[in-house]
Amino acid sequence: MTTKEKKLYTRHHMLEGWAQDLIKDSTVFMIGVGALGCEIAKNLALVGIGKMYLCDVDTIETSNLSRQMLFKPGDEGRGKAEVGAERLKELNPFMEVEHFNQFLQEIPMKFYEESDLVIGGLDNIRARLDLNDICLRLKKPLIDSGTLGYEGHVQIVIPPGIEGFEQTPCLRCLMPIPPTDEKLVAACTPKGIPQKREHCALKAEYEFGKKYNRRPDFENDDDIAVLVEYANKFVEEYKFPPEFNAEDMENVIKNKMPAIQTTTAVISSIQSHEILKILHKLKGYDIGPLMNPPYINYNGKYGLFEQIEVAIWDECPACGKGIDLRRIEIESSAIILSIFDQLKYAGFDLDPDQTLITKELTKKVVWNPYVPKLKDPNKTIEESGIQDHDLLMCSVPNQESIRILVIYI
Ligand SMILES: [Zn+2]
Repeated sequence: MTTKEKKLYTRHHMLEGWAQDLIKDSTVFMIGVGALGCEIAKNLALVGIGKMYLCDVDTIETSNLSRQMLFKPGDEGRGKAEVGAERLKELNPFMEVEHFNQFLQEIPMKFYEESDLVIGGLDNIRARLDLNDICLRLKKPLIDSGTLGYEGHVQIVIPPGIEGFEQTPCLRCLMPIPPTDEKLVAACTPKGIPQKREHCALKAEYEFGKKYNRRPDFENDDDIAVLVEYANKFVEEYKFPPEFNAEDMENVIKNKMPAIQTTTAVISSIQSHEILKILHKLKGYDIGPLMNPPYINYNGKYGLFEQIEVAIWDECPACGKGIDLRRIEIESSAIILSIFDQLKYAGFDLDPDQTLITKELTKKVVWNPYVPKLKDPNKTIEESGIQDHDLLMCSVPNQESIRILVIYI
């Protein structure tokens, strides 16, 4: 560190147990650059994190500016991850920042692998469960959180097998049956009967897509007018008053929840501080024990914190006995068939003519015995689209699937 950089952190040096060099050497992966993501990334940039990856596919909207402090008026329409990275560099020019305008499932796993820990700042359950699974497979601590109006929570997920840490329950342990995806419900019955008022809006979006062959643009008044007209036709037809206006139409379609900066600030601060403790602990230092139980709830309406006892679910498909992952160490230039040789060596005799291999998170097929293009035995691992630290699923009819983690050597 240069003298100027060191000077930034003089107050930190007075903290008991604090190791600034360790923070400088740390890499964290921030998933979601929304309200929570902006706050956490800001906190970590200010304390001097060495490197940060940022991921978000969304663009900035006017309503984000009341909470997402890395963005300013005039940023509307630009990518959140890109603008976030720019602003963080202004806050701390000594920090390295890389951003991804991609879904978390599509980012090459090597970036997760390179990170000391992963931070969740997501607003939907499906994405959080996928992130949970990635962290468990790659053995990375996950510090997740969520807010809803005046309430919020923080959960620390420590996968089994990290030295010096005790395993904690994961997101799936607490959610054996993931909640229904309303969009999916509505999409499954586009011609059917809406079961509640929200479905009228989602059905209107579906009709819009069918007619114009694109998604509605909420910056375009004509698009909104069409959507409102469609939705209110369904509201009347299926008797789900009151009628939609442009604003609540957008809230339903974009699955927006009530949110306020004060709750975000409380939750993200707790999360950020636990992150700093974990980073120290990972490298043998101690600035305090992790919050225990690893789940805390905050209710801003009454100014109450509640520590919630949570338990590991033995049968959890992500972290319990249900997890069975084979590691395969392989050269990227090896032919794809050598995966079968390696599995055979590990006691799994799979027939290449019967086995389908897919990427677990994106469901992309890399080997399909029934499609000649996807059954070329001379293709290399790399040419087949398998990247370092990819999670693959080998499926054979009438047998339990085998999950593998591919490590390039
Ligand atoms: Zn679990």
